[in-house]
Amino acid sequence: MSVINIDSAKQNVEKIGFLDVEVDATLDLFHEIERLKKEKNAIILAHYYQEPDIQDVADYIGDSLGLAQAAEKTDADIIVFAGVHFMAETAKILNPKKKVLLPDLKAGCSLADSAPADAFREFRNQHPDHVVISYINCTAEIKAQSDIIVTSSNAALVVNSVPKDQPIIFAPDKNLGAYLIKKTGRDMLLWNGACMVHEIFSLEKITKLKIRHPKAKILAHPECEEPILHIADYIGSTTGILKYSREDSATEYIVATETGILHQMQKDSPHKTFIPAPPTNNCACNDCPHMKLNTLEKLYLCMEYETPEILMEEELRKAAKKPIDRMLEISRAGGL
Ligand code: SF4
Repeated sequence: MSVINIDSAKQNVEKIGFLDVEVDATLDLFHEIERLKKEKNAIILAHYYQEPDIQDVADYIGDSLGLAQAAEKTDADIIVFAGVHFMAETAKILNPKKKVLLPDLKAGCSLADSAPADAFREFRNQHPDHVVISYINCTAEIKAQSDIIVTSSNAALVVNSVPKDQPIIFAPDKNLGAYLIKKTGRDMLLWNGACMVHEIFSLEKITKLKIRHPKAKILAHPECEEPILHIADYIGSTTGILKYSREDSATEYIVATETGILHQMQKDSPHKTFIPAPPTNNCACNDCPHMKLNTLEKLYLCMEYETPEILMEEELRKAAKKPIDRMLEISRAGGL
């Protein structure tokens, strides 16, 4: 039940994650958001997994690497991050002086949650000679315990940049880790974490779909389990998948990643057909429930009232920044 009073709504943000204020139904939110962007010198960075309306008002749409690079470069005063909590944290880590807003603080990530800071510290202490490479889908506390961060776009490049005789811990995604072991030939110690969305695809249903659409190519994100990756025609980050579908000559694709990406795929290639890969049961589990907590209304409210905001202790921020800087350096040197 929405409240009218903005002060009590602000007090409630910590508890419920967003400003629970009724939005005037006659407002043109697309227009209002554009107005707020200009008035406040604000930029909207959105992940490909956001709902189509949010993607359409964003100044930049990308995957984790692109979003981190855009956050690093922007001269806006306010960064409105339409994504999940760890992504907005990354923007804050890179921009301590800017205000970073997230429409819903509860937009978390099952993968980031699978690596609690204390348990990870214990694991790391058991392997003090290992370099720690962490996927960007982790909390600031895990980043602060890592040597280098990676995204799915640059992970192989980063792993290959580590000297061959140096043992490596890879966290938190065991599926991406296993894929990288295969791809780079490096034996890494894996943390046992996973993404709830990418683990849900059904091999049996995809195989049946492929029989009905024999010309369709299967595109998969490396967070998927090995049997899905095994039958994929292309494996890559969301940006990689988008680029492949744009440049490839096929006209039909089965897409094994979060369904939000289909909006840009369809916009880029209106003459092609994109079929979301089916999950194991008849749920909408290939929609990330965390990503989809953000709505156009919440986006508008957080810009209007500049709440909820991402705040962070300076010591933690500095420690978490080092491995991100390392990643950005390696990416730049590798031409990404
Ligand atoms: S899709 Fe998976 S990895 Fe991405 S935010 Fe959702 S739970 Fe996290």
